[in-house]
Amino acid sequence: MILILHSGIGEDSPAYTELLDYFANKPDISTRIHKVAGAEQTVTEVYLIGHTAGLDQKEVESLEAVERVVRVSEEYRIIGRHRDDTRTSGFEYNGVRFGQDNLHVFAGLCAIDTPAHVEQMMQALQAHGQVCTRMGAYKPRTSPYAFQGHGAECLPWVFELAGKYGIKVIAMEITHDSHLDEINKALEQTGHPTGVMLQIGTRNTQNFELLKIVGRQQTFPVLLKRGFGITLEESLNAAEYLASEGNHRIVFALRGMKTNMGDPHRNFVDFAHVPVVKRLTHLPVCIDPSHSVGSRDHGPDGILDTLHVTAQGIIAGANMVLVDFHPAPTKALVDGPQALTLEELPYFLEDVTIAHEAYQQRKKLVGNFLKK
Ligand code: PEP
Ligand code: MN
Repeated sequence: MILILHSGIGEDSPAYTELLDYFANKPDISTRIHKVAGAEQTVTEVYLIGHTAGLDQKEVESLEAVERVVRVSEEYRIIGRHRDDTRTSGFEYNGVRFGQDNLHVFAGLCAIDTPAHVEQMMQALQAHGQVCTRMGAYKPRTSPYAFQGHGAECLPWVFELAGKYGIKVIAMEITHDSHLDEINKALEQTGHPTGVMLQIGTRNTQNFELLKIVGRQQTFPVLLKRGFGITLEESLNAAEYLASEGNHRIVFALRGMKTNMGDPHRNFVDFAHVPVVKRLTHLPVCIDPSHSVGSRDHGPDGILDTLHVTAQGIIAGANMVLVDFHPAPTKALVDGPQALTLEELPYFLEDVTIAHEAYQQRKKLVGNFLKK
């Protein structure tokens, strides 16, 4: 059960004390307080854990601090959609709003290599009106002998370049909690020229200790990638881990599944799950066409498979696209063969717009159909 409190209820108000006292007298119920920062106000939600079936809902509703009671199913208590649930989806971070009803492109380097390449990338993004990017500093690699990313050392100049080119959010994977401290320190040192969305990669979807640490901090939102070899339910539970620790600013990413059914793509493209995740949860949904497809192959129509699946994800309602670009793919230190080029950026963005407009038309069409 979730209690949504009236907006003006402070922690020192008598109504708040009355609420806590009420549950303190119920030994089989524990409470967890969550502050949910919205565009206009911060809402306090109280999660009741334990034997909530035994509670008198009318009595709980009559507590002065309580505006609304939401009965939740056991699964995905916080991230999930529940019956009579009017909680809104999404959040704002560093001036950019992420929701289930809008779309952002995060085009950028899989791995940060040289300052010149990072600068060329960001310059191109700014020239095409983009304020988000992806930049990998910590790379989880299959081989221990492969390039592991420049790590903390590159962060200050990457953040400074992001500030120079008006980038507001960089999606950046971390694989250890020390990376969180390093990102914080580099942002501090450079005067916060940009924002960071922490990416938890597919190999770490069930790294529960990392999830808890990232969930406990409120500074950065999190892009959680679906685990490539586990069920959707298991991956959504990983997102619930983040939320249950207090961080609700989560985007859920589909990035393909490891199965031979998907050959010749690097992964089996799972973008049919975009509407499923939106139906089950309040989370904005990201697609990663680059790591799904993994090549620059194209069909007889000349359209790259990467662009085909991007359009498929967007036309199904995706809210974010994480996509690999590189100014010189042959020189990329990681995932060059799947990278798009800077010359392809305007073409890619226009293709995204076509698919997004088609999705909006489809929404209008179903709206009119359901009104009849
Ligand atoms: C990445 O986005 O660079 C990446 C490694 O993705 P994934 O965790 O989905 O493999
Ligand atoms: Mn990659």
